Amino acid sequence: MTTLPDAQLFIDGKLCGAANGSTYDVISPWTGQPAGKAADAGAADVDAAIAAARRAFDDTDWATNHVLRLELVTKYRALFEANRARLSDLALHEAGAALGAVGRAHVDMALDGWDDYLRVFPALKYERDYGTRPAFGGEHHRFAVYEPVGVVAAITPWNVPLYVNIGKVVAALLAGCTVILKPAPNTPGMGAIFGELAAEAGFPAGVINVVFGSDPALAGEMLVHDPRVDLISFTGSTGVGKRIMEQGAQTLKRIFLELGGKSAKIVLEDAPDFAMEVASTMLVFHAGQGCAVQSRLLVPASRYEEAKAILGHAYGRFGDNWGDITNPAHIMGPVISKRQMERVMSYIELGKAEGATLIAGGKARPDKSPDGGGGGFFIEPTCFGDVTNDMRIAQEEIFGPVLVVIPFKDDADAIRIANDSSYGLSGGVSSGDVDRAMKVARAIRTGTMSVNGGMCIAGDIPFGGRKASGMGQEWGLEGIEEFLETKLIARRL
Ligand code: NAD
Repeated sequence: MTTLPDAQLFIDGKLCGAANGSTYDVISPWTGQPAGKAADAGAADVDAAIAAARRAFDDTDWATNHVLRLELVTKYRALFEANRARLSDLALHEAGAALGAVGRAHVDMALDGWDDYLRVFPALKYERDYGTRPAFGGEHHRFAVYEPVGVVAAITPWNVPLYVNIGKVVAALLAGCTVILKPAPNTPGMGAIFGELAAEAGFPAGVINVVFGSDPALAGEMLVHDPRVDLISFTGSTGVGKRIMEQGAQTLKRIFLELGGKSAKIVLEDAPDFAMEVASTMLVFHAGQGCAVQSRLLVPASRYEEAKAILGHAYGRFGDNWGDITNPAHIMGPVISKRQMERVMSYIELGKAEGATLIAGGKARPDKSPDGGGGGFFIEPTCFGDVTNDMRIAQEEIFGPVLVVIPFKDDADAIRIANDSSYGLSGGVSSGDVDRAMKVARAIRTGTMSVNGGMCIAGDIPFGGRKASGMGQEWGLEGIEEFLETKLIARRL
């Protein structure tokens, strides 16, 4: 198996190890064995990164020099392009993305998103004129100026690390903020490369800093508590998101949250290709580890048995065509970690105990490990029928290759079921009648919605969650504006 380059921290313009010399093993999800080593940042390293970011924001012209920002972020993008092979390697070996998924959600979509940010950036407004108004016997000219919020801590997950890191770091830099990137412990390399290439691009010291460590909470908690940090941009689980909001209140931090999901896809009975719509909901891409995946399939009760048969057939056809690290056609590999595997398997057991029936899968498959050692974190593509929306497998985010299929009576019932969720991140509806589908789409309380397969996620449009799926928008012009604050200036004429 590959050994990844050592992942180093990047603090105040310098690549470095942890101050106390600690390192930890980065575990390959394919084998359960070490694939590389990463510096294990401690409190001193996080403190130094915060101090550097604060200095760079307060003492340099980074916040106001738009020309320099665009120039450096463009150069930075070119360096990522030159490192495509390395990025693919990291997605494969750290995040466990199968080769057929590496090119799509992991590297291509992420770099395309960066290009989209650069394309929308010129439309960013730095001022808005509100005109004049009389008050106290004189005329007053009022205008708003939009200023970078300051030091941003970007705390990111392991599932699509390049995509999420770019979503935050590039937007914050373009807005004029300085950044501390804190990737997940499982994917430090995809963070470390932001430091290495920032050094090569020549960013002023402290504008970008990267810290990570084996303790999932240590650096993040410090960033959330520290008054020198102005904004937390967090993507991850709803539980940690709640904690960040609570802890961040101590210093009244700006908080941006992209959290979990349990999105519903509704296939109405008049969908032009009912079988294709049902079968294509199979939750296999990147082993279902996507926040916006449609993990609840809602089908008409009148066609429920037919839908189950379609899925049984589709999963059968998919068969064992997954989990081979060398196969470029495979889109599904292992789940990220032993802990995640145990968590997903416990949901599969829970589903059985709740009375749902397995249409496909249901087993761990350590035999898929390429080294024959059985140490990889593989779970079969799994689908449950006879599910009601009140079951925990229908309500809780499993974050693995597990789809649940739920019947509905009519459109109103489908809308009710889709909305009967603490989450509201994404979703979809398919129908031969576009007006009918649009009516359903408008009625779902969610951040993004796909109608008849419409692609609702891309770098030039905003993405965000409702309810327990978070708050704020990432990507698009809105994604850059998240890092700005409004100052209103009025001048007596
Ligand atoms: P996680 O919440 O466990 O960790 C996310 C990040 O937070 C990691 O960097 C982790 O080290 C850090 N962290 C952990 N405890 C912390 C604390 N107490 N204070 C501050 N930071 C802390 O999530 P995960 O397991 O890495 O990722 C999976 C989750 O991410 C899923 O719930 C998924 O839905 C969500 N996700 C959401 C989106 C989205 O855009 N909405 C995108 C990708 C993933």
